[in-house]
Amino acid sequence: MPCKCSVSACRGNYDEANKVAVFSFPNDENLRAQWLRAIPRKDFKVTKNSKVCEKHFKDGEVLRLSTFYIEKTGETISAPMKRPKLKQNAVPSIFPGCPLYMSSSSTVRESPSKKRQRLEEQINLAVSESLDSKLEYDKKK
Ligand SMILES: [Zn+2]
Repeated sequence: MPCKCSVSACRGNYDEANKVAVFSFPNDENLRAQWLRAIPRKDFKVTKNSKVCEKHFKDGEVLRLSTFYIEKTGETISAPMKRPKLKQNAVPSIFPGCPLYMSSSSTVRESPSKKRQRLEEQINLAVSESLDSKLEYDKKK
């Protein structure tokens, strides 16, 4: 039986069509806690069989090539690995299909009231500028 991805809403590795690499939870307690905090799933109990698939890691966090250094020739060659490996201390951070507030996305959106306030300030500024120029115009007359 293939190991399914533990992230809710993710179909990673659920069937042949969604075949992706999956990774076990790290043994390191600190890192494991970071994973659990990152994964938007309530009451998540990690078991030996809990896996997270490669879709939740940024590019560069999943290592697919192993490099060998050949001393004789001074060459470094790389070959694709049979099973991708995770970079040390990599934490899953991409959760498509999960509500925004749950994911750890760092983009902060401007709230509507703040946006309105900013627009009002701009309008006030424009009005006072045009008033100034009107006064100037009146003075010249
Ligand atoms: Zn997944």
